[in-house]
Amino acid sequence: MSYRHLLAPLDLGYTTLRNRVVMGSMHTGMEDRFWHYPKLAAYFRERARGGVGLIITGGISPNREGWLLPFGGTLNSVLDLHNHRKLTEAVHEEGGKIALQILHAGRYGYQPLVVSASAVKSPISKFTPRALTEAGIARTVRAYARCARLAQRAGYDGIEIMGSEGYLLNQFLCTRTNRRTDGYGGSIENRMRIAREIVEHIRAACGSPFIVVYRLSLIDLVEGGNTWDETVQVARALEAAGVTMFNTGIGWHEARVPTIVTSVPRAAFASLSARLKAAVRVPVIVSNRINTPEVAERLLAEGAGDLVSMARPLLADPDFVVKTAEGRTHEINTCIACNQACLDHTFRNQRATCLVNPRAGHETELVYRPLANMARPRAVAVIGAGPAGLSAATVAALRGHRVTLFDAGSTIGGQFNLAMRVPGKEEFAETIRYFQSQLDRHGVDVRLQTRVDAPLLAASHYDDVIVATGIVPRRPSIPGIDGANVLSYVNVLLGAPVGRSVAVIGAGGIGFDVSEFLLHRDGEPLPQTREAWLDEWGVDLAVTTRGGLKPVEAATPPRDIWLLQRKPGKPGAGLGKTSGWVHRATLIRNGVRMLDGVSYLEIAPRGIRIARNGEEQWLEVETIVVCAGQESMRDLYPAAPASPHTGGPRFHVIGGAALATELDAKRAIREGAELAARL
Ligand code: FAD
Ligand code: NAP
Ligand code: SF4
Repeated sequence: MSYRHLLAPLDLGYTTLRNRVVMGSMHTGMEDRFWHYPKLAAYFRERARGGVGLIITGGISPNREGWLLPFGGTLNSVLDLHNHRKLTEAVHEEGGKIALQILHAGRYGYQPLVVSASAVKSPISKFTPRALTEAGIARTVRAYARCARLAQRAGYDGIEIMGSEGYLLNQFLCTRTNRRTDGYGGSIENRMRIAREIVEHIRAACGSPFIVVYRLSLIDLVEGGNTWDETVQVARALEAAGVTMFNTGIGWHEARVPTIVTSVPRAAFASLSARLKAAVRVPVIVSNRINTPEVAERLLAEGAGDLVSMARPLLADPDFVVKTAEGRTHEINTCIACNQACLDHTFRNQRATCLVNPRAGHETELVYRPLANMARPRAVAVIGAGPAGLSAATVAALRGHRVTLFDAGSTIGGQFNLAMRVPGKEEFAETIRYFQSQLDRHGVDVRLQTRVDAPLLAASHYDDVIVATGIVPRRPSIPGIDGANVLSYVNVLLGAPVGRSVAVIGAGGIGFDVSEFLLHRDGEPLPQTREAWLDEWGVDLAVTTRGGLKPVEAATPPRDIWLLQRKPGKPGAGLGKTSGWVHRATLIRNGVRMLDGVSYLEIAPRGIRIARNGEEQWLEVETIVVCAGQESMRDLYPAAPASPHTGGPRFHVIGGAALATELDAKRAIREGAELAARL
């Protein structure tokens, strides 16, 4: 496939972007502390070296009132220039361009100084904002212009004004949060006035040869959001005020419609960018759930936008563009939209990284050094080709070690082969495809359908043996657990017949996944269509209604499901912060009944007998599915490490084999990479 649209330069007159790939803004946590700027520079440098056309930084506030968190990243003084120059110099040395995102959080700020259009509290911060006075608005406009001018002095090629996702300027734009009766409230002309003034002041401060991107909310996905006609009115006014290009924003953070998790169909919202492109003359950046060069190229070829924004895909693979240009797209480490190591970290105040690429955000700390010239490559056996073993094998091999990878199964991927069968998790197959390409590239000797045992190991001569044999599903000791009506999640996901009424034991990540799997009609093709997904979540892509919301049709679930857990508290509380609510909402809409504080008493052909709040009851179900966690499988890991004097191999254990509790693929892949980086 040719990627001529994606790789085409964009001449803006005073500067040229080398291609149409924009790295969208992602808050990494490193922006907030000056001592992290060298790490942030290394992170941006890798992406610029990988060929990205325009990098947009994480959000930086123009003043203290705009902080997302106390003492968040701010650019409001010449004293800040020194740190920011580290970023711009690193990117420019690699031939890239970089714009600073100016983000004023408004009522989304989690700090006591918060301000907004009106004193309307947000559901995601405990602090009620103060309504800005007209003098306060004038100060805010000046703060944006000062921030942009400082960015220009720090060497940025431009700025992006964050005007979407429910942040301050979005709060002014919509009646949901703008209840003002002065010249900044009421009509759409008044509600957009602060945004227009900001663009005008920035243009006046920075002059014409400076990129000003405006990220505009094309669909708010909240009640009291704007209509399409209003959005076009805003876009045209901002274009006239001096915007260089528009970036696409989709949905407020408080919206109850998912916009970027794995289950959102790829490019689900691209038609909105296409409509904006038809309404303005400046370039438009299309975004949201675009994670492969094929999708990006198709969107540009179809005219959905002039550039493509990808944020998480460039966290997952800094070399996305260069691999595309060199015809190595099968080697791209694709973002699977899990949010587990990026957004979930950000919302927990941890540094953002990536589940499939643990080096992201740790470029200076997790380094895969090639073996020194005279160093002898070690003979490494990796047992288990799940995420942990794949990560260890590929990193060890790229560094120059001689690696043999064993798996008892007929394919690589371990439990990812089950995960990818869950509706909405089909992307997990991309990770297996990526690892396969790296095994091939680095010459790993892969031996499938080979169950390693102690005699096989004893007959071999390895310097290092990495035990990555994963887990076995836990089988709780409940009377009747061996009955014909009891299935493990493994059998269910592999296609065993399941009755029309089901009790799921265990409400962890797998219990939720299996429940969703069982809600899909047998034989229904996956993935579901974009239209079905839009109907399911009540999205009116025409945005004829305020916020683009329409009524959700009642679900007709094919099964009656109970989801059970022993501990008291909300089932699913341990799921990801930014994705757990999507899973819960799906199950609730489909009538899944979730019970906590359950004791399992007995299983019989009629169902399962449980006790709850001191009362016993029978759940009369045809099938019981066990998702009760997992236990490590590490028989091959010796109880005592070999003595260095005996000459035996060094043993290591990683992933589920090391510890099954709170195991996830993020930990498995990181442990494999960290171990292999040290070998
Ligand atoms: P495994 O993936 O279990 O791999 C171990 C491998 O070792 C297997 O391939 C096995 O065949 C092989 N093996 C075992 N013994 C031997 C032997 N003696 N010789 C040779 N080979 C052997 N995690 C997330 O982070 N996010 C998710 O959204 C997510 N969803 C999931 C959904 C489902 C349905 C399931 C089942 C899991 C999900 N997980 C998820 C969990 C994730 O897949 C695991 O944490 C991860 O696979 C653990 O990796 P591992 O390499 O340690 O073990
Ligand atoms: P898990 O999240 O630890 O959940 C196990 C469930 O089984 C819990 O609900 C637990 O709750 C129950 N349980 C534990 N011991 C039991 C026993 N003896 N009898 C009955 N119930 C028991 O594990 P998992 O669901 O197997 O998932 C494995 C890993 O994969 C998880 O750690 C998770 O991170 C990862 N994963 C992640 C996602 C995701 O979307 N991020 C999705 C799938 C899997 P009670 O003890 O209270 O009943
Ligand atoms: Fe993508 Fe998941 Fe990595 Fe985030 S953690 S960048 S969502 S693969």
